[in-house]
Formats: sequence, structure tokens, C-alpha cells
Amino acid sequence: MSRVLMVTAEAAPFAKTGGLADVLGALPPALARLGEEVAVVMPRYDIAHIPGAERVWNALPLVVGPHRYTAAIDQVVMGGARYWFVDCPPLYARGQVYGNFADDHLRFGALNIAAIGIARHMFRADIFHGHDWPAGLLPAYLRENLHGDPSFFGTKCVTTIHNLGYQGNFPASVISDLGLSPASFHPEGLEFWGDVSFLKAGIVWSDAITTVSPTYAREIQTPEHGFGLDGLLRARASRVHGILNGADYDEWKPETDAFVARRYSAKNLTGKRAAKMTLLTNFGLPANPDRPLLAVISRFAHQKGLDLIAAIAKDLVEEDAALVILGEGEARFEEMFQEMARDFPDTFAVHVGYNNAMAHQIEAGADMFLMPSRYEPCGLSQIYSLRYGTVPIVRATGGLEDTVDETTGFKFSEYTPTALLDAIRQALTAWKDKKAWRERMRRGMAKDFSWTAAAVEYQKLYRSL
Ligand code: ADP
Repeated sequence: MSRVLMVTAEAAPFAKTGGLADVLGALPPALARLGEEVAVVMPRYDIAHIPGAERVWNALPLVVGPHRYTAAIDQVVMGGARYWFVDCPPLYARGQVYGNFADDHLRFGALNIAAIGIARHMFRADIFHGHDWPAGLLPAYLRENLHGDPSFFGTKCVTTIHNLGYQGNFPASVISDLGLSPASFHPEGLEFWGDVSFLKAGIVWSDAITTVSPTYAREIQTPEHGFGLDGLLRARASRVHGILNGADYDEWKPETDAFVARRYSAKNLTGKRAAKMTLLTNFGLPANPDRPLLAVISRFAHQKGLDLIAAIAKDLVEEDAALVILGEGEARFEEMFQEMARDFPDTFAVHVGYNNAMAHQIEAGADMFLMPSRYEPCGLSQIYSLRYGTVPIVRATGGLEDTVDETTGFKFSEYTPTALLDAIRQALTAWKDKKAWRERMRRGMAKDFSWTAAAVEYQKLYRSL
């Protein structure tokens, strides 16, 4: 049994912008069920939903270089794991989780200092497990031992990369602002092309690096997907592990989904038909149950391959399929989808915004789910789609490659509109054979990407350290 202290910028259901939060909501309880002692440190954002939080520490001093903050620590216990929220309004009361704030290095630098403070006063960790760039400085701070506490010398660090595209790179001047030694600022340390890179620090100084699918673990070691860190990751290859995320089936399953009017199961799919009709109506699309309904739920970001969808818009109109889109993010994609919906209102309907209930209703009501990502570290939406009998059409990359096969979905490799359109056409042809399609749905619904399996892998890794 290990004592594991995780550090993250988000965790569901408290504060979520993407799949990272889902992982931090589910993995700690899954590890706790296996007997590990797990705690999670994250900011207490003003926008976080933390019912029942209890104050467990009143004044934890956070010294970050020349900056002095005082934080209170609030606690919630969920599924046997403790979640500790660092309450420090000057840093975290910004109305949002991320916002490209000028002091982001301090916001997340301080989070790591808080984690070390918690480890000194409240929870003697055997392992610090940081998630993504916001936790990247942990091993840097531990190594520099600014807190002057020799008892951390045996403590191990794990960094999990949920998305290599976000690295937390800041101008070199932040080094002193963060209280780090200039001696760490070199290419074998945390310097990345003249910047300070939080994620690089995590990769360089952690005892193990994990990422969220086996295929992505290989891909990040290539120039195509390495974002400039592939050389370093190749050099550290023996410490890089791919552990596939699980899905939280308590939240995502059609048998019990509270957001779906008529629940359904692999045995009885009638409720799915009802969900489709509701979805079509809610999105103002023609209420035709016999017309295939495709769906996208996505952050609107370059990574997600959304430009491919726009490139085949006219073809989709000709194929007589409908497409509902839910997402928010970069304005160019919001405008792109809104324009498609204006030009072809019977084919495309878009809702710009973040809406969890709607995400559930779309997973339930759609026939097919599109994920043409340029890269996808793991991807959760396609795993949910499988469970809801919503056949995924995905690009064969990262976790999409590892979770969808030709018996449960459709895959394409080349990043081109033609390749996407070919895969969609194959799916639309297959859809016409109702019996075979139902069998395909049921094969997907029977897949089980459980957190227990993932937690067992993390547990093995902790032990190996
Ligand atoms: P990423 O972490 O890159 O955003 P994932 O597929 O791993 O992608 O996770 C996306 C998660 O966020 C899923 O749970 C999905 O339902 C949810 N999601 C994404 N966009 C929205 C939105 N606009 N409204 C509601 N949920 C969303």
C-alpha cells in the first residue's frame, strides 16, 4: 500500500474543463478501492462546486519566490479518496479555471508548493503523482528542497501527460518569480527553447512518466506528435508507460442515466429511439427517425480535427445524414459550425456552450459519434459512445486506436477530408443493415474500459518505484 498525493488543476465533479477532470474524479476512488491511500490537491476556484467541504487547515503559508500567500485547505472525501482544495482567492478566484492569466506560473507554481506543504503537515506521501503541466514543477521544487525538509529524499514522483500539446511554457524571467534556482534553467533541465517549461520539468525529473493510452505513449516519442519533446521522451523511454484511462460508468451508462428520459440497455434499445427523437426536436432538426444522426461533442480546438468536418459539409448534405454538434472553444470553430447550421439548417445543428446534460442526451440519442482528431491522448467521448450504442467513427490515433476496432466502430488513418468521408460512407452503408448494426452497437455496449483495470496498472507502477 502506498500513500499517493495527486496534484491537478481540475477534478470532476468539482471543476471540469475536459477529460483530465474525469480521470481525477475516478482514478483516486478506484485506487482507494484497491487499498491505496490517495489524496488529491487542487485549487479551490470560485467557480468550483464543492458541496459539503470542510475546512481542515486554516492558514498554510505559500512562499513562491518573492511572493507570500496564505491558503486554507478544505476537504471532501469521495469514494474513499481525500480531495484537498487550496483556498487562496488572490490566485484562484478568477471566474474560470484557465484563462491565460499573466500570473498563471504563480497560480500553478503555488499549487505545487501547497502540495508540498500538505505533504509536510497533513499527509506523508510516498509518491507525488502530478497531472499535466500545472503539476510539472513538483519534482523541480522537491529536488531544490526549498522547504529544507530532508524527509522527502525517498519520495518518488510520477508525471502523467494527459495532453502533450499543453506544456505550461513561460518566459525565462519567471524562474526567480517561482523561487527556482537559475541552475535548473538549462536544456537538460526545465529550459525549453529559452522558456521555462513546467511539463518538461515534470518529464525530466520524475521517476516515471505515464500517458493515457499505449498508442499515445509511442506517438509522443515521434516528431509528428512530440511537440518538440519527443527527443527527451525517447531518451527517457524506459520510464514512459501508457495506461489506458477507464470510463466512469456510474455517470455514463444508459441504464441509469438521469439526463435521459427513457433509459435503455443492450437488451432493450427502445429508449434510444426515443432519445433520438427528443434530440432531433431539441436541436430543431427534422424529426425523421430513419435518417442517420451523427454527433460531435468536443472542445473546439485545433487538436480535434474539426476542420475536416467543415470540409465535407456538402457531402454530408448529399448523404442525407444529420449532424448535431455541442462544444465551445476557439471562435473560428464556433463560427464555422454556426455557418454550416445557417446554410444547411436541416442537416446541421450546433449548440455553442458547455452543457453536461446535453452531452448525455447526445450520447444517448445519436446513431454515430465523430472524432476525427489530429491526435487524441486517450479520448473519453468515444468510450462513452460505445457504452451508449452510438457507433464511433474515429481517426486511428492515440486512445482512439486503442479503444475502437472494426467490430465496434469505423476508423480512418490519413488526416484528410476524403479519408473521413470514406469512413462515414462505410458507416452509413453499414447502417442500412439494421440487424448487423444492432449487433455492432451491442458489441460496443459490452466493452468495459473500467477504472479498476487502469488502477491496477497504476498500482503496479507505484510498487515498481
Ligand atoms: P478532452 O479531454 O481532450 O477535452 P475527452 O474526450 O477526453 O477530450 O473528454 C471530453 C469530456 O468533456 C467528455 O466527458 C465530454 O462529454 C465532455 N465535453 C466536452 N465538451 C463538452 C461540452 N461542450 N459540454 C459538455 N461536455 C463536454
